[in-house]
Amino acid sequence: TGTLHVVATPIGNLGDLSPRALEVLGSVSAVCAEDTRHTRQLLAHFGLERPLVALHQHNEDAQAAQLITRLQAGESLALVSDAGTPLVSDPGFRFVRAAREAGVRVSPVPGACAAIAALSVAGLASDRFAFEGFLPAKTGARRERLARLASETRTLLFYEAAHRIDETLEDMAAAFGPARHAVLARELTKLFETVLDGPLEALLAQVRADPNQRRGEFVLVIDGAGDDAEARTTEGRRLYAKLIEHLP
Ligand code: SAM
Repeated sequence: TGTLHVVATPIGNLGDLSPRALEVLGSVSAVCAEDTRHTRQLLAHFGLERPLVALHQHNEDAQAAQLITRLQAGESLALVSDAGTPLVSDPGFRFVRAAREAGVRVSPVPGACAAIAALSVAGLASDRFAFEGFLPAKTGARRERLARLASETRTLLFYEAAHRIDETLEDMAAAFGPARHAVLARELTKLFETVLDGPLEALLAQVRADPNQRRGEFVLVIDGAGDDAEARTTEGRRLYAKLIEHLP
């Protein structure tokens, strides 16, 4: 059988496409892309032209079946998304799972990922972290998700789009407390790359004061709940242990 290469593409700076990514993209019989127009332009920039297959949320299962037949017949394919690492808040998970189930070799060509790039410059604890991707768009569901994360001690990573950044910071300040330390990484690897850090309330004030800080693409890196929350949990456990002694 052929190989399915899962290839990371740049998140803004085309210089971040690796030499091996170029080699693989140039050698496969087709490139499966989230947006074929976008990927055609990327390939053209590097002087490459490959047959493209659209693979997005709405046709992934149907396309995957056909693509797996091609892989089983010995063709090699590449999977890319519009930016960064496929499957990370991007399509591809079902295709990859189906390929693995079909016994096809799936091999990564690693590269840019906005979450990891943000984590690498945030200066927050990075030994343990939790990637939360995009929060739900609806206010109620978003606040509920944040409330459930309030006592999480690992560093939290979120993706956010420009039009909701202030609302999200507001909800985070309410759920995690205005003093919780956070890093707002905007337009990484691009011309207007900005990394702001401070308490959530200060970040919210900065974003509110300057419309430029609301433009582009964002990763939010939030400090995990500190000793307070841990202490609360420990205290809770201690009380529970005492209580249970007295229960019949
Ligand atoms: N698969 C991609 C990856 O590996 O990072 C993520 C795709 S997701 C649909 C797009 C989101 O990633 C954006 O809304 C933003 O939150 C984040 N993002 C992508 N590029 C970025 C950049 N250059 N700077 C900051 N955030 C970025």
